[in-house]
Amino acid sequence: MKKIIITLDGYSSCGKSTLARQLANELNYVFIDSGAMYRAITLYFLRQHVNWKHTREIHKALGEITLEFQYNERTNQSDMFLNDENVEALIRDMLVSEHVSEVSALKEVREFGVAQQQKMGESKGIVMDGRDIGTTVFPDAELKIFVTADPAIRVQRRFKELFAKNPSITIEEVKNNLEMRDYIDSNREFSPLRKADDAIELDNSNMTREEQLGIALSWAKERML
Ligand code: C5P
Repeated sequence: MKKIIITLDGYSSCGKSTLARQLANELNYVFIDSGAMYRAITLYFLRQHVNWKHTREIHKALGEITLEFQYNERTNQSDMFLNDENVEALIRDMLVSEHVSEVSALKEVREFGVAQQQKMGESKGIVMDGRDIGTTVFPDAELKIFVTADPAIRVQRRFKELFAKNPSITIEEVKNNLEMRDYIDSNREFSPLRKADDAIELDNSNMTREEQLGIALSWAKERML
């Protein structure tokens, strides 16, 4: 079977990472959560008070950032490391979510992220999820999936996930954040979120995790022959 590249794009919280991780496990492929990279960059910018209105400050900050995924034996997943610090939990924070779309819309940040992601896919055998993976990062990927889910279901899923860590969070906050990120991600100038012409749409609103995995696996296996 040949090694392929699988891309999963779509709006916030429609289950892309869950499906991408499952697919990678089944196929023994590398899973890359590209959103974690933009979240880590945003965390760095916030901590260092980078004024991202100034190109020079952006360049300087990006030059100080090293991003790496490291396997975590306890969770059986890869964690995001920013300059050798495990920031996996911190990057899921609401403060980062509030700024990540603004930071990831910056031209310099996109070039930085895309170049690293393309390198990770050089030897194929990779499943990457994000917003522009099938359009900009790997336009020649063998399998492109555009994941969608009903907006109300997406809000519920994300709320459940965040509430477990922070019981003071409200549904309204989660809804506003998802809507804002979807809007900025879809309307930005560089690499906006959109379905690649050759992507297959997968609406998982009424599917179990096992069902969506089964469908995606069958698409992948067809392309690996
Ligand atoms: O996937 P996740 O929701 O964690 O991504 C966080 C944010 O990172 C998105 O809302 C988007 O602004 C940005 N992102 C991006 N391009 C990607 C992945 C994520 O701009 N490929």
